Amino acid sequence: MKLPNLRMRSFLSSAIDFLYPPCCVSCSGIVDQSADVLCLECAGALPLISAPYCPRCGAPDIENSHLCTLVNPGRNFHLARSAAVFDEQVQKLIHRLKYQRRRHIGTYFGEKLGKMIEKDEQVAHISWLVPVPLHRTRLRERGYNQSDFVTQGISTITKLPIQTGILERTRNTRSQTKLSQDERAVNMRDVFRVTDRAAVKNQRIGLVDDVMTTGSTFDSCAGALLEAGAEKVFALAIARA
Ligand SMILES: [Zn+2]
Ligand SMILES: [Zn+2]
Repeated sequence: MKLPNLRMRSFLSSAIDFLYPPCCVSCSGIVDQSADVLCLECAGALPLISAPYCPRCGAPDIENSHLCTLVNPGRNFHLARSAAVFDEQVQKLIHRLKYQRRRHIGTYFGEKLGKMIEKDEQVAHISWLVPVPLHRTRLRERGYNQSDFVTQGISTITKLPIQTGILERTRNTRSQTKLSQDERAVNMRDVFRVTDRAAVKNQRIGLVDDVMTTGSTFDSCAGALLEAGAEKVFALAIARA
């Protein structure tokens, strides 16, 4: 079948919008413009992080005697940035991104992250972005990797290139939700493998995931990348718990 031309496509998308008005992915209310992911009210209520934030872990509101969790020795990534704080609304959105095929939630937050790191001198000269990979079994079940869409959103804003397939998840780890910080670190040990060491050598890598809780997933990924010769790894997440 021949693809409809631009005018036809624009007519079709207006007709679809008329029949099925686009809804806010958070409250199901009507959105302002068909390209919007959230209605104005939900977008306004998002706990987005803006400067000033902690230069190492990206935590907001650092004036209240902030104890940085990234000063611990043994962290493999250089610094971390998140677009938002992990509150109930963000948790619901990330759940929809991962389990209800709402992939544009990933690109939405990715674009927020892109705008944030573009203005951030500490996150300079990234060679390329790498989404944290899912294990092939999980990828088959879900059909997509949510971090790919976050990465695409960052790239749309920053124009940074994306590399997929240079990092592989060798074990299908159990869910981290109910694990303590130490248990998470053990659960994530030796989970990732670099498949193309030459490509990684001396590169500054922006590693992208959905949520950063204790940072053990980022740490494990970054460990594999550094071991393969990467210069620096920046941890980039939709939200920090
Ligand atoms: Zn809404
Ligand atoms: Zn900090």
